[in-house]
Amino acid sequence: MSDPFSNTADPAGIRRQFAGVDLEELAKKHGTPFYAYDADMIRQRCADLSEWDTVRFAQKACSNIAILNLMRHEGVLVDAVSHGEIARAMAAGYQPHGKSGYQEGLPSADPIVYTADIFDRESLEAVVQHGIHVNCGSADMLEQLAERVPGANVTLRINPGFGHGHSQKTNTGGEGSKHGIWHEAVPDVLRRAEWAGLAVTGLHMHIGSGADLDHLATVAESLEKTAHDIGRSLTMISAGGGLPVPYQQDESRADLSGYFTLWDTTRKRLEDSFGHRIRLEIEPGRYLTAEAGILVTEVRATKRQGSKKYLLVDAGFHTLARPVLYGSYHPMSLCPTSTTPPRELESVAVGGPLCESGDIFTQEEGGFVSTRDLPPARVGDFLIIEVAGAYGFVMASNYNSKPFPAEILIDRGSSQLVRARQSADEIFSGEYIPKT
Ligand SMILES: *Cc1c(COP(=O)(O)O)cnc(C)c1O
Repeated sequence: MSDPFSNTADPAGIRRQFAGVDLEELAKKHGTPFYAYDADMIRQRCADLSEWDTVRFAQKACSNIAILNLMRHEGVLVDAVSHGEIARAMAAGYQPHGKSGYQEGLPSADPIVYTADIFDRESLEAVVQHGIHVNCGSADMLEQLAERVPGANVTLRINPGFGHGHSQKTNTGGEGSKHGIWHEAVPDVLRRAEWAGLAVTGLHMHIGSGADLDHLATVAESLEKTAHDIGRSLTMISAGGGLPVPYQQDESRADLSGYFTLWDTTRKRLEDSFGHRIRLEIEPGRYLTAEAGILVTEVRATKRQGSKKYLLVDAGFHTLARPVLYGSYHPMSLCPTSTTPPRELESVAVGGPLCESGDIFTQEEGGFVSTRDLPPARVGDFLIIEVAGAYGFVMASNYNSKPFPAEILIDRGSSQLVRARQSADEIFSGEYIPKT
């Protein structure tokens, strides 16, 4: 079941089960919309990366504490980009610091690392209070940390001056990116770190989604050069995230062993020149959870607008924002409530309930409404939006005062609610009418 497309729809675009569980039953029990995650597929994705010394989950991709707990059991460590994510990791059982990443002969790994370009004040407090290791994306962070935690070890996130990404909005390197310490500023930042009494022990580059190996070779080269600027205090390098997953059937899988070999070679050269071991980390988000998640919605209306047929479902961009944000493609299938034999596919546009014309799941970058070939659907059928386990729930909003959807984890044939759908009261809890 490691190929989402074999776990999906039959050729007629029908899917009645997910991870061995009947979808119609699940939908009737929990209501829609909801996200469902396949625990075994997440385990498989973690296992795919077992060559790396450390797999650190970029939890912003899918941060439910049940998912984090699952990752922890797989020996995966965690990245946090906010004090909320630090709190989540701890709620899921991660120790804030210590030697949980201990492996024979290797420098130890911090279970939780805070990675960002700034400290908001609450995040700085959380980092100080719990002794969290920090991956600094700006020189200001170094100074703010040194003031509170003299002598801390830090990692530097470098912007190598070029980037890569599946969209302008996910490109994380180059002049057009706010992320990381500009490569040319590194010598100056190192002097400031030394002056502030901080030891730079780690080096990190995350330049966006994509795994073009030629391009990565350039990234690794740039990291190696910066590693020599830092020198012998260095004990960890991180390749960042950005491992792609196939969203369309004709997309191929990333060459994981080529990817590892490239970084491992860089690591070994650094070990030879420094005369000590260097831990090699990878920091995927999407790769670990995207294919393991689906969004289940109910068809609530079907209508024709001129020549176009629309399916309107009870999830919208408040539930899954990737199509409206990036024009992202998600495979779709239908779980019909009737058992009538499949008929010919028809081209439909799929939209949600929001009072907003951009609330369309079948759109391309630039907002153009396109269509998808799906089995004819009736009100009450369930539309399944696939490969939705990364940057799905975590980007949900309460726009139109719609509740956050439920989340369900399926493990070895049994399903558990891991987040209840919000109630209307919960949507506006924390709001007050001023006293007169
Ligand atoms: C988002 C992010 C990742 C994960 O990116 P994916 O494309 O989901 O693998 C890794 N590291 C950092 C610092 C990030 O911000």
